[in-house]
Amino acid sequence: MHGRPDRISSAESELRFTGISASAGYAHGPLFRFEAPSAKYVTSASPAIETETLKAAIAKATERLAELVASAAGEAADMLEFQLAMLADDSLSNPALAAIEQGAAADEAWSDALANEIAGYEASEDDYFRARAADLKDIRQQVLDALTSSDSVSAPPGAILTGSDIAPTRFLATDWTQGGGIALSAGSSASHVAMLARSRGVPMVVGLGPLPDQDGIALLDAEHGTLLLGAAGDSVELFQSSAEAFIGRRRKAQDYLRKPAVTASGTPVRVQVNIADPADVDSIDIATCDGVGLMRTEFLFGKPGGLPDEDTQYRAYRKVLEWADGKPVTIRTVDAGGDKPVPGFTVDEGNPFLGLRGIRLSLARPDIFRIQIRALLRAAARGNLKVMFPMIAVPEEYERATALFAEEARALTAAGIAHKQPPLGIMVEVPSAAIAPELFAKAAFFSIGSNDLTQYVMAAARDNAAVAALNSVTNPAVLRLIEAVATFGREHSIPVSLCGDAGGNPASIPYLLKAGLRDLSVVPAQLALAKAAIAEAEA
Ligand code: PEP
Ligand code: MG
Repeated sequence: MHGRPDRISSAESELRFTGISASAGYAHGPLFRFEAPSAKYVTSASPAIETETLKAAIAKATERLAELVASAAGEAADMLEFQLAMLADDSLSNPALAAIEQGAAADEAWSDALANEIAGYEASEDDYFRARAADLKDIRQQVLDALTSSDSVSAPPGAILTGSDIAPTRFLATDWTQGGGIALSAGSSASHVAMLARSRGVPMVVGLGPLPDQDGIALLDAEHGTLLLGAAGDSVELFQSSAEAFIGRRRKAQDYLRKPAVTASGTPVRVQVNIADPADVDSIDIATCDGVGLMRTEFLFGKPGGLPDEDTQYRAYRKVLEWADGKPVTIRTVDAGGDKPVPGFTVDEGNPFLGLRGIRLSLARPDIFRIQIRALLRAAARGNLKVMFPMIAVPEEYERATALFAEEARALTAAGIAHKQPPLGIMVEVPSAAIAPELFAKAAFFSIGSNDLTQYVMAAARDNAAVAALNSVTNPAVLRLIEAVATFGREHSIPVSLCGDAGGNPASIPYLLKAGLRDLSVVPAQLALAKAAIAEAEA
C-alpha cells in the first residue's frame, strides 16, 4: 500500500487529496465510480449445472479478452496475453470447481477461489506483485460479469474514473479521446494500467487514500499528484493556468524533438532513451535520440512461459541494435529482485530492496546468467552494443561478471559462433559505488541509476507515497554524490551518464547539468520535454 495521503480542506466545500503521479497531465470532468456491484447471480443449486455454467462463463470471458487482444498492441497486448494465460490455467479454476462439487454456487466458488489468490498477491510488500493482483481482480470480475450476463457501464466521455484500483481491461475499454483521467485511492505507479496510461497520455494519480462518495466535477492535477473536489474560485483558476502551462510546455517541446540537445549556453548534451520491450523502439525515430542509454531486460524474464532461452534473448537484443543503426545501445544484464521479482528466479526475502537482486542474483545463478551473456556476446556482433551490470556494490562483482564474459567468449570462439566483446560498464546506484568510484575504475563506463541511488541515500522507498517528499534526487546529499561521480569520470576519462527517471524530469535537469552530467537517458515520452528543459538551462 502507498502511505496515507494528506487530506487538506482548504475551503468549506473544497477537498484536496494528495497521492503519487503515475502519468502526468491534467483533467477535469465528472467523477465516475467504476466499482458498481454486478447484477445478482441466481444459482441452479445443481453441481453439474453450476460446473458447466462456470466453465461457460470462463470461456465467454476468454472470448472477450481475445477480442481485446486483437485490437491491442505492445504492452497492452502483453498484459492481455498474461490475463488469457492466467484464465487458461487450471490451477486457478480447479479450487472453484472443487467447491462447486461440495455444493457451492458458481459465483461464490469463483469469487472465493480468486479471493485467496488475490489476498496472497496483495499482502506482498512488493509493488510488482501488488500490481499483478489488479490483473487477477480483473479476471475475477470478467468471469462474474459473464456469469450474470452483465456488461460494465461505460464512463461518460471526459470523466475522471475513481475507485481503489482500476482493471486493465476497463482502461482499454474506455474511450479516452475526449480527455478524462484516473484517480485511485490505492493503485500503483508500477501497474499495467499505469504503464498504459503513460504511453497513451492519460493523466493518472494513485495512492490518494479514501475518497468520499460524492458526485460532481473533479480537478485532477496528475503533474503534481492531486485531486480537488468541490473546487471554486482561485483554485479553479490556478488549476486552469497550470493545465494550460503544461499543455504549452508539451507543445513547445515538440520543436526540440528533432534537434540535438544544447543548453542555453551552447553546451551539447547527449539524450538517449530508456526502453524495455524491443517493441518500444517501433514508435521512436532513431533520429530523435542519441541511442539507448538503458535497455531493461527484466521484461524478457517475467513472461508466463518461464525464463527466456538464448535465441529469444539474442533476437530481442539484435532487433534494438539494428534499429539503432550504429548508435550506441546499452543493455543492462537482468536486474531481477527488489521491485522486479521474477518467478522461478528471484527468492522470497524479508527486505527485497536490500537482498539478492541485480548482479548479486545473476552471480548466484551462473546457469541463468551465462545464457544471457552468450546472447549478448552474439548480439554485440550486430551493432554498437555496450553492456552494464546493475546494483554493483563491490569491485569483485564487476570482476566476476567480466570473467564470465571472457569465458563465454572463449567458448563461442571454440564453437566457431560469431560474437564480439562489448564494453562492460556498471550502474552506479548503490551508495558504496557512488562514494568510492575509484574502486571501479576498470569499468568501461558508469551509468548513474538515480532511482535506486536516491532511495538508498535517503532511506525512502521509490514506490511509497508516504515518503515521496524524502525521495528527492535534488536533495544536496544525492546531488553531491552525482557530482562526485561525474567529476571522477571526467578526470579519469570514464564516460558517465544517468539513466534514472530524474534524467527526463524537467524540474531536475538543471540540477543534473549543474552537477556536471552531459549524458542523460530518458523515457521516450519525456524526450522532447527533456530536450526543451536542457535548452533553457545555463550549463
Ligand atoms: C535506477 O535505479 O535509477 C534505474 C535506472 O534502474 P531501475 O529503475 O530499473 O531500478
Ligand atoms: Mg535501479
